[in-house]
Amino acid sequence: MTPFARNPVAARHAKHLNAPFVELLDVLGFGRVYTRASGTWIWDEEGRRYLDALAGFGALNLGHNPPRIAARLRAFVDAEAPNLYHVGPSPYAGELAEALAARMPAPLRVAMFSSSGAEAVEAGIKLARAATRRSALIHCEGGYHGTNLGTLSVMDAPRLRGPFEPLLADCRAVPFGDLPALERALKDARAAAFVVEPIQAEAGVRLPPPGYLREAAALCKRHGTLFVLDEVQTGLGRTGSLWAFEAEGFTPDVVALAKSLGGGMMPIGATVTSEALHHAAYGSADRFDLHGSTFGGNSLACVAALETLRTIEDEQLVQRSAELGARLLGGLRTRLADHPLVTDVRGRGLLVAVEIGPTGADWMQRVAAGAVTIAAEKAIGQWLAVQLLEDGVLCQPAARAWNVLKLQPPLVAGEAEIDRLIAAVGDAFDANRRLPEVAARLSARLVRRSVARVVA
Ligand code: PMP
Repeated sequence: MTPFARNPVAARHAKHLNAPFVELLDVLGFGRVYTRASGTWIWDEEGRRYLDALAGFGALNLGHNPPRIAARLRAFVDAEAPNLYHVGPSPYAGELAEALAARMPAPLRVAMFSSSGAEAVEAGIKLARAATRRSALIHCEGGYHGTNLGTLSVMDAPRLRGPFEPLLADCRAVPFGDLPALERALKDARAAAFVVEPIQAEAGVRLPPPGYLREAAALCKRHGTLFVLDEVQTGLGRTGSLWAFEAEGFTPDVVALAKSLGGGMMPIGATVTSEALHHAAYGSADRFDLHGSTFGGNSLACVAALETLRTIEDEQLVQRSAELGARLLGGLRTRLADHPLVTDVRGRGLLVAVEIGPTGADWMQRVAAGAVTIAAEKAIGQWLAVQLLEDGVLCQPAARAWNVLKLQPPLVAGEAEIDRLIAAVGDAFDANRRLPEVAARLSARLVRRSVARVVA
């Protein structure tokens, strides 16, 4: 057994939670147990600290253990305020719904609360079906919306969907950014909803062509299809505006939020829509309770979210995201400008990606571009993430594009931390310029690890 496999925390996780996950961490070189976290940093049990550019897959816009959220939760608990009661109106859920409405354009005025991103998107899908009395759903290739049955139904991800088929009928994917394809689907399908992210984070931070979302919203309106926007990862200032759709000049029919809404401390999802649509779906005595969940809108989650919204404003984190994002993007573009394995550096706000692939930089790349692509997708992204971990930076490739290294540090990061991130990413890429060397080092490492597992 390796030292990590023997570690009691890892061993218990393997035994009672997920054995292949622990094994994969070990094989890849991610075998660490984390014990403390504050702001942009997280520490492992050996006292090594890591700059967190993964940030809870986007749930830590305020950083780890944000003091204001922690204080608000403590005060709430100390006051013995009721968290769950279900038979009366909630001042906290009401205040949060009002605060969200105040920060979104009309007619987005009504919120439905849940506890995760998948639930928030699924609530949007159900609302669309109930409000339009239609069933078909259109979604985008490459999208990521969650792993419950409803959201998997609007994802073209064979590995994630396979074991759970058949999923919802009447769902069809169109290429992200392709308006004619969307229009064809809208004409054919008489769809209840078009479900889409403003930027496809897990597909590798894919930005839509300028004007795509606005035009898509207009097309949807023309065809009576609701535009359900998944801002689970892009919301709360991540992309340099409070909501990513603000930068696109249109208003969706439904917006799904989660992740950072709870300040990284409380799980909460929100599905925000208009009074008219909410009324059409749930506006009568025999329909008002068609959708809900026990912890949806619980007071603790709502006060954490309210304090999150206030913190974002008081600390001007939207502005910071735009500024630090420009610094990160510019710095990485300069540092990686002539790297033979970097095909693109892109992003908006503090959602930034480095794409790895063939650039045709040398003869080997030109004759074996396909091999470079495969190596990038299967191995190089994770390999670079491991190297960065060893240099004290936590990050991961995008979930649906392992050839894209995703960098999304908390919005509370300082300039020095962004510069440290640029330097670390630059160093990691500098150490991996040519495919044969990358392949040799990677296989040497894997062989060493496999031997260690066998002999230990
Ligand atoms: N939508 C998007 C855009 C996401 O990135 C994610 C999570 N990565 C989800 C939905 C699902 O959120 P959750 O994991 O909280 O269910």
